[in-house]
Amino acid sequence: MRHAIRGTIRAVLAAATVLAAGSLSAQDWSTTTDTHRFMEVRNGIWLTQTTAQVFNSNSLVIVNDEDVVVVDSHVTPARARALIAAIPAITDKPVTALINSHFHWDHAHGNQEFADIPIIGHEYTRMKMATAPLEEPTYVSGVSGNARTLERLAEQIEAAEDDEERGELEAYRSMFAAHAADFDEIDPLPPDVTMNEKMTLFRGGREIRIIFVGRAHTGGDIVVHFPQDRLVFTGDMLFGRPSFLGDGYVDEWPETLENLKALDFDLVVPGHGPPLADLSAIEKSQAYYRALWERTAEKHAAGVPAEEVSGTLDLSDTAFPESQPSEVAVRRMYSRMENPD
Ligand SMILES: [Zn+2]
Repeated sequence: MRHAIRGTIRAVLAAATVLAAGSLSAQDWSTTTDTHRFMEVRNGIWLTQTTAQVFNSNSLVIVNDEDVVVVDSHVTPARARALIAAIPAITDKPVTALINSHFHWDHAHGNQEFADIPIIGHEYTRMKMATAPLEEPTYVSGVSGNARTLERLAEQIEAAEDDEERGELEAYRSMFAAHAADFDEIDPLPPDVTMNEKMTLFRGGREIRIIFVGRAHTGGDIVVHFPQDRLVFTGDMLFGRPSFLGDGYVDEWPETLENLKALDFDLVVPGHGPPLADLSAIEKSQAYYRALWERTAEKHAAGVPAEEVSGTLDLSDTAFPESQPSEVAVRRMYSRMENPD
């Protein structure tokens, strides 16, 4: 029975974590607090995630000679406050800047907790966050996803076969309901320092390069490159599998990844999931996005409605043969085909 309960909660989590990629086991983390786990991926550069069993994104905590720079602010102000409170577990140096990899809520809606320090992002990220961030489709679907998860949990509690299963589901529901309520506090704070192509922070002996290599997952993704440590943080531009495409530029993505390859690095930290040492993920992603765009364009040219495309594309010659685009992804590609900019 325990196994079945875990399965139920895992299914709920899977539904709530469509953007997540891969997972890590306990021994990968060198420091764990009540709210966060930390892994030093390279010389003073730490990958951190919340320990909460909810939709999660990666942040980087960069410990320099005198200060700390953070990349990405988590999903809500509450998670960001927990991150700020957890950083003293690895350093007592002050946080002096935040960098946003892109505008999506799961990376940038903790920003308001960093209001007293510079927040750096692409001009596009500022534009998106300063216009109508709470009406962005990606945010709206995040909030409605929370509501659906709560409804599903209520049904499962109703259908629970015994007290143990019911108790476990109720504990999960009360944690998840508190998390969903945390969204009410979100008051998006856009970057107040913007860049277009490239910006470098010199912090003690460290160079932190913030680089726009092209449009991909959004119109303003930046990567954070550490030339001395041969490391790059790619946000949601690159995982070990395809990314969320709802705001994406699938037609330009392969070229953007080609520009990424020109940087000197041998380890990638993506915006979700574990670090990637196998850089073949780049070529695999390029080939997948090329095939996806071409085959979706054929459907578009043949007049196939967007809602009928998912499930029909032959992607068997790519590294991700099972990764059919969602209807949202197809609509986005159709819209790029009809209104290229
Ligand atoms: Zn994203």
